[in-house]
Amino acid sequence: MNRVETIFIQNYTLPDLERWVESIGERRFRARQVFRNIYGRQIRGWGECSDLSKMFRLQLEYGAHLHAIALRESTEAADGTRKFLFELRDGLCIESVLIPDPPRHTLCLSSQVGCALGCRFCLTGTLGLRRNLTTAEIVDQVCRVQEEVGASRRITNLVFMGMGEPLANFDAVVRAIHIMTDPLGLAFSHRRITVSTAGLVPQMNRLGSETPVNLAVSLHAPEDQLRSELMPINRTYPLEQLIRACREYPTPPRKRITFEYILLEGINDSPGHARELVRLLGALRCKVNLMPFNPYEGSPFGRPSEESVLAFQEVLHKAQMTVIIRESRGAEIGAACGQLVAASMCA
Ligand code: SF4
Repeated sequence: MNRVETIFIQNYTLPDLERWVESIGERRFRARQVFRNIYGRQIRGWGECSDLSKMFRLQLEYGAHLHAIALRESTEAADGTRKFLFELRDGLCIESVLIPDPPRHTLCLSSQVGCALGCRFCLTGTLGLRRNLTTAEIVDQVCRVQEEVGASRRITNLVFMGMGEPLANFDAVVRAIHIMTDPLGLAFSHRRITVSTAGLVPQMNRLGSETPVNLAVSLHAPEDQLRSELMPINRTYPLEQLIRACREYPTPPRKRITFEYILLEGINDSPGHARELVRLLGALRCKVNLMPFNPYEGSPFGRPSEESVLAFQEVLHKAQMTVIIRESRGAEIGAACGQLVAASMCA
């Protein structure tokens, strides 16, 4: 038997895996069998791969980790939102959140341990960045959650809105998307995957050309000064560059870019801010998600009143924009947008 260096199999796209099986002396088509076993049949151990030779199974047993993360804890909110705390091999932790909205079940994925961008309203941002996730650690969030909740609750949509800025971990995220959309892999349609960014303009341009997923942009302010105060990334890529990148993003027909706007009491929630938002986004094919802020302990911001949320929405409605007020789900279990701290990242 050839000596095999231990790998995490979920780091490999199908073409990579074909090269790897050849490198250990197996035939190329074996890679497709392995892919089908991991993602289609969702095997729990290499011993279940009855279509592979005994020798190859042994090589996998000693040379390839089937999983990259381990479930440490899961918590369910009254509305059915479920938060999963996963431990990585180095002891660090991340979280994923499953949001049921039948017939849809949307899984919110993490892409980094912590985040370096430091948005002021985001609890994850206060932790700083520990490290990027690998492709396997991203893909395995889908596999492990699906295994945990069972086939009756099939995950239908994936959103990169958990811990981290996905486009700051560009290569690992794009490789994960290739595995998620491979018909022999997790077989999701690109149309059911959304990548959310705080506005890393160069990577936004690359994303559209490499994998045509939906784009969501965390906007949160309609003018540069306020946005730079709330989101330091705006000093590097101000609104003019961000909106140009959105205009140039190859949004598929009948799809639109989503702009997320967290309403912070007395900060960005006035009708004047709403009118500026109309001016900024008016010409774009887009929809706006308004999310009244969920205060957490010690947060410097408050939640706006219902009247001011509705007044804000009304300004956008009058301008014929598509706008939805979205309550962040799972706030009581710390699973809402910007609340993920992965038990302060464990280790
Ligand atoms: S909102 Fe997103 S980009 Fe900003 S600090 Fe939080 S995780 Fe990072």
